[in-house]
Amino acid sequence: MADTSLTIVGAGVVGLAIAARLAARHRGLVLLERNPRHGQETSSRNSEVVHAGIYYPPGSWKARLCVEGSRLVREAAVRHGIPQLRCGKLVVATTEAELPGLDDLFERAAANDVPLRRLTAREIQSLEPQVASVGGLNSPTTGVVSAHGLMDVFLHLALDAGAILKTRARLVSLERRTADWRVEVETPAGPESFTSERVVNAAGLEADAVAALAGIDVEAAGYRQHWCKGSYFATAKRGVVSRLVYPVPGAHSLGIHAILDVSGRLRFGPDVEYLPERVADYTVGDARRAGFGAAVRRMLPGIADADLAPDTSGIRPRLQGPRDGFRDFVIAEESARGFPGLVNLLGIDSPGLTASPAIAAAVERLVA
Ligand SMILES: Cc1cc2nc3c(=O)[nH]c(=O)nc-3n(C[C@H](O)[C@H](O)[C@H](O)COP(=O)(O)OP(=O)(O)OC[C@H]3O[C@@H](n4cnc5c(N)ncnc54)[C@H](O)[C@@H]3O)c2cc1C
Repeated sequence: MADTSLTIVGAGVVGLAIAARLAARHRGLVLLERNPRHGQETSSRNSEVVHAGIYYPPGSWKARLCVEGSRLVREAAVRHGIPQLRCGKLVVATTEAELPGLDDLFERAAANDVPLRRLTAREIQSLEPQVASVGGLNSPTTGVVSAHGLMDVFLHLALDAGAILKTRARLVSLERRTADWRVEVETPAGPESFTSERVVNAAGLEADAVAALAGIDVEAAGYRQHWCKGSYFATAKRGVVSRLVYPVPGAHSLGIHAILDVSGRLRFGPDVEYLPERVADYTVGDARRAGFGAAVRRMLPGIADADLAPDTSGIRPRLQGPRDGFRDFVIAEESARGFPGLVNLLGIDSPGLTASPAIAAAVERLVA
């Protein structure tokens, strides 16, 4: 008999949500995290937006899990007192040429069953006097949540149900045996190993490397992840907007947008920068300020470059490269590849924070 029935690699928001959902059924579930604390990577380096689900192709994992996850996150925030902002969001066209982009979004949201309302430039002006636009959309169900608050709740639910969090424990080897997996980790006290009936790979930026450790040919499977950095600039100005304000999205990103956090602090970002090497450099260079200023002023003409200061950044694990089209989340039980009991989660970029409790429900069905 294996030492544990389930091991989850990675204590970001996704691994934590899965642990919270499955800990009661898998007593002694092990959650491995290489860092000293949970949630120190992408899950604490994002916009904290609870997306409504207006951007993703109908029927995709991203569309379905975003819509379901948004409901679950908002419910969890109420039940557990996690700070959230139910502020809604505007998507604004700043030129006539962008108006068809709003129509596309409106149709996609309808197909995903997400409420969205068209607004005239005058209506936008009365809601957000500092925003310049020729028209837009209002998404009342988009909001903001404290990512740390959400992760702390998932962790406590998991620990209360008997899960074991091992920090400073880096997975270094994963070997399929006849009836279970041999898991080897590196810890400050030296190497440790144990056996597990099932393994869930929720390793974020390293999810492709962990799949490769298990024996999967990641190139052949289409699992190779690109690292795509997104930087933010912040402003000390208060009262500029009272809801999130986004431009019409481009082919590869939602565009630099105005986001509030739960304390009302205003930031702009993230931009899109594919990293040539897999090095987690989170520096935000001041050289980006003018580009950010120009993008922000298209929607908010009153923001000067001097109002902006470099803030945080995060790195998206993306399956699509800079010139590729849409790629969905990979959420796969790998029996068909000869690796029973392994569930791989790859390409969990946005809306992964929003979708996290719904991803956990999907994983529960796969490991059942
Ligand atoms: C700039 C940016 C903005 C975003 N904005 C939003 C947003 O507004 N709304 C939204 O819904 N989503 C957003 N996202 C996406 C969201 O942040 C991610 O989808 C989500 O955080 C992914 O969580 P995760 O648990 O999969 O990954 P992570 O948080 O990266 O967690 C993975 C964990 O695995 C650990 N790990 C890796 N390898 C090993 C190993 N070998 N052994 C042990 N541990 C290991 C890591 O240390 C890490 O803690 C954004 C992302 C970025 C980068």
